[in-house]
Amino acid sequence: MQIELDESSRHWQQLVRDYVERELIPWEVTAELNSGELPPEVMQRIHGEAIRLGLPGMDAPADRGGLGLPMVDQVAAWEVLGRVTNALCWCFPEAQSWMYEACADSQYQLETYIQPLLAGKRREAYAITEAESGSHEVVNTSARPTAGGYLLNGEKWFVTSGNLADFLFVQAKVVAADSAGAGDTLFIVDLDSPGIEIVENPLFSHTFASHHPTYRFTDVLVPERNRIGGGRSGMDYSRAWFRHERMTIAARMLGAATRMIEEATAWASQRQILEEKLIDKQAVQFMLADCCTELWAARLMVYEAARAHDRGGVEPRSLHVRCSMAKLYATEMANRVADRCLQIWGGRGYRRDNAVERFFREVRVDRIWEGSSEIQRMIIAGALARRGLDAM
Ligand SMILES: Cc1cc2nc3c(=O)[nH]c(=O)nc-3n(C[C@H](O)[C@H](O)[C@H](O)COP(=O)(O)OP(=O)(O)OC[C@H]3O[C@@H](n4cnc5c(N)ncnc54)[C@H](O)[C@@H]3O)c2cc1C
Repeated sequence: MQIELDESSRHWQQLVRDYVERELIPWEVTAELNSGELPPEVMQRIHGEAIRLGLPGMDAPADRGGLGLPMVDQVAAWEVLGRVTNALCWCFPEAQSWMYEACADSQYQLETYIQPLLAGKRREAYAITEAESGSHEVVNTSARPTAGGYLLNGEKWFVTSGNLADFLFVQAKVVAADSAGAGDTLFIVDLDSPGIEIVENPLFSHTFASHHPTYRFTDVLVPERNRIGGGRSGMDYSRAWFRHERMTIAARMLGAATRMIEEATAWASQRQILEEKLIDKQAVQFMLADCCTELWAARLMVYEAARAHDRGGVEPRSLHVRCSMAKLYATEMANRVADRCLQIWGGRGYRRDNAVERFFREVRVDRIWEGSSEIQRMIIAGALARRGLDAM
């Protein structure tokens, strides 16, 4: 049930698939039973191998040393990375194309932060969400101009990989007497800056080495040179980041669903219940048939959205809506697949050493982060109301 891909996409799919099967999947249960952690020498090896393959630069422009892959090749790679549980596939940083656009006017930012991501030498995290509704981009973190830069004050919640990162992209509001330069702004903030503290590091349903701590910023001095994109609204970059993340999340859901269906089918084919194999029971067949059909629909949608991105000529706001639809459908599909496949496994499906059980917990958050399902629906319905179906 593969989608037709050109040689380049097939190449990346195969290369990353080999990496996933050889280096990542064998370590899932160890990670699950050890709070997501792997022995340091294993982490070093899987990180090193990801760098050798060039994975941090999938989206980075070729003239900066990245792979500059078309979105469809990236989707092919992220789909197979999505076959892995415990976020073991997050073992490399990503230098994304929007970062090069955002930091284009600052050689300092490119050399100090973005190129080291490409080389796998630094690690970033993205901090937008605050205690008030994360769904509606309520930003109260303030950046007050001071000599040489800004004083940052506020709190950021759920900062994924904050424990592994050494700098953050922080969305804040510049508070200035004159309106020039005031408003939503994106900053790069070094995590060793005085005034930054972790106020909470909660446990979540999944078992990942990447944590999601809450950070408090108290009079943190951020130099002027760490303000991104001159006078442009930081939200423009955050939306570019959302689009990228929504596409890669949707791609990972395809890989996760594929693996769950494979695992459930293999189990049902061998499980004898009284006189009959589980796979021969129609109720189970129907569950698997629905899984395959929905996976196929999601795959068509995600790859077509990626192709539209590569073809060009599609307005950014239409791409934005298509990313929302792909993310909405693929994440909800993966959750339905997880529920059915776990049911097919019965009691064994509830064991933490079962990949389906881990996916069951892990794909749940994909309906919440990077814009919840409700927010994606609001984006889609808003575009429909404003511009009509043909413009979506
Ligand atoms: C594990 C994890 C990791 C995360 N990582 C990051 C990160 O790295 N960086 C970052 O900035 N953020 C991160 N987030 C935050 C995430 O993006 C937010 O949790 C998400 O956007 C929802 O915001 P909220 O939790 O404040 O929920 P709320 O905004 O309080 O919403 C609660 C519920 O109400 C629904 N809702 C809201 N508005 C409406 C409406 N108008 N109509 C109908 N329903 C509505 C929402 O869909 C949701 O179901 C992470 C979250 C989690 C759980």
